[in-house]
Amino acid sequence: MSIFQNARFYTTVNHLKDLPPTRAEIAFVGRSNAGKSSAINTLCNRTRLAFVSKTPGRTQHINFFELGDACFLVDLPGYGYAEVPEAIRTHWVELLGRYLQTRQSLIGLLLIMDIRHPLRELDWKMVEFFGATGRPLHILLSKADKLSRQEQMKTLAAVKRELSAYPSVSVQLFSSLKKQGTEEVEKVVGHWLAT
Ligand code: GDP
Repeated sequence: MSIFQNARFYTTVNHLKDLPPTRAEIAFVGRSNAGKSSAINTLCNRTRLAFVSKTPGRTQHINFFELGDACFLVDLPGYGYAEVPEAIRTHWVELLGRYLQTRQSLIGLLLIMDIRHPLRELDWKMVEFFGATGRPLHILLSKADKLSRQEQMKTLAAVKRELSAYPSVSVQLFSSLKKQGTEEVEKVVGHWLAT
């Protein structure tokens, strides 16, 4: 059975002081519209666990989902959406940055990137910032169904090449639409939880 089965909404947090008691945490992050909510729903085999939005940049808080009583999936606010008031953007950056930097129980980060636009500026910042913590970062090249198999393989190889200087960073193909790559994510996360 998938380790993501039986995920249940636990809480929404807008300030770090309200974070729930610590359990092993796996967090999802990515540019707005990269397909993060869809990836969470697909992995958890649910249609509306995380809210899939046509309006990018809506999620401004941190959502926690529990997997059994030992682990949380954490849905972090998307970044990179231009049409957001400065004050709200500053709040996100602080919430996101401080969570990533200070949360001891965060054992690994899943970074979602649209395969058609991989490694944009803020994605690189995330790789550099989180890569430096030594904790594992696994990238999902999402919406893989938008490219031919040959183009998928080419992009995967190119992204791997660009990230070769970061030993704690790994990459795979993913499509929520086709349920492509779910077993590979389960394997990676299962490994994080076991070590
Ligand atoms: P988020 O802002 O990162 O949470 O992105 P969403 O999950 O809300 O997805 C943004 C848009 O991309 C939506 O219109 C989704 O239907 C679409 N999308 C997400 N995943 C896939 C996928 O695997 N394939 C395709 N073709 N579209 C996807």
